Amino acid sequence: MNYDYLIVGAGLYGAIFARELTDAGKKVLVIDKRDHVAGNIYTEEVEGINVHKYGAHIFHTNDKRAWEYVTKFADFNRYTNSPVANYKGELYSLPFNMYTFNKMWGVVTPEEAASKIEEQRKAAGITEPKNLEEQAISLVGTDIYEKLIKGYTQKQWGRPCTELPSFIIKRLPVRFTFDNNYFNALYQGIPMGGYTKMIENMLDGIEVKLGVDFLADRERLSSLATKIVYTGPVDAYFDYKLGTLEYRSVRFETEILDKPNFQGNAVVNYTDAETPYTRIIEHKFFEFGTQDKTVISREYSSEWKKGDEPYYPVNDDKNGALYQEYKKLADGETNVIFGGRLGEYKYYDMDAVVVRALDVVSKEI
Ligand code: UDP
Repeated sequence: MNYDYLIVGAGLYGAIFARELTDAGKKVLVIDKRDHVAGNIYTEEVEGINVHKYGAHIFHTNDKRAWEYVTKFADFNRYTNSPVANYKGELYSLPFNMYTFNKMWGVVTPEEAASKIEEQRKAAGITEPKNLEEQAISLVGTDIYEKLIKGYTQKQWGRPCTELPSFIIKRLPVRFTFDNNYFNALYQGIPMGGYTKMIENMLDGIEVKLGVDFLADRERLSSLATKIVYTGPVDAYFDYKLGTLEYRSVRFETEILDKPNFQGNAVVNYTDAETPYTRIIEHKFFEFGTQDKTVISREYSSEWKKGDEPYYPVNDDKNGALYQEYKKLADGETNVIFGGRLGEYKYYDMDAVVVRALDVVSKEI
């Protein structure tokens, strides 16, 4: 045994674990099957712009501990997410707020907006929402559901809104104020210099081996350390022996355009059902870029199949039940800690990953 811990996956969870264990005097090796660190928060510089290669990540939190932790490793800018929804050429503010209600219905006061929503909720006959569709209508009414939620959600998840859990839509605030901040968060921003730099700073002085696939060589790699922290998909760890958990994957079509401004905002969601992509990211606007060129990424959502990158766990009842079975197996692996979005099969935001990693690692130490 050469190491106290082998950390499988150099994403946010793995990097925090590695940093904290190292600072506590443990000997750590980090491996990742990709040829770079930072997992899905990896950013790569293109034309002087930090491009979010595996999808846009905006750090936001109400947890002071999470904020203080990440800001030890990077300075953050003051980016505040305010996506625009494009429904067949009509533009709406997100999240759902007084600008959205005014554009949708011409209402001017919060009372008018609230009574419009109440009227539509009553007409739909919803008392206790049982799925995402009912939850959405009861929060914002039928018109907003039809134009801004239904098409986007069905593209994003590949399932009708009636078959999706309501918690997904509760991620979005509904506000009766003129506030376009997508997140209810005290702290928000993007690390200056990119997320990759932030993770590199976390891993400073720690041994990292890239291009190493744990599952392909698990016996030898496991023999190197007393304990393992595994941040890959939990079902893959167990060779899918109970069946496959469902994930959504995303394909990105990234283009460099010879113009300074393509869409005037970092995020534009295409909320109709027909446009094949869910959103277009214009990366420079995450960091107030003034370059002559711009880089955009169209996001196409698809059902994950073996060989694809998993991005989103599908946290519905069926997968939740299967995950509980895998969790029992995972709990039986006494020298392995399963962590992160894939290891715990949970739609974690970055700040929740930070808090979780810090909690689990502090018990180890
Ligand atoms: N959503 C929507 N319309 C939008 C944006 C989001 O209906 O314009 C719904 C959709 O179901 C999505 C969920 O809200 O899956 C959560 O969106 P969020 O932006 O938090 O997703 P992420 O950025 O994690 O993909």
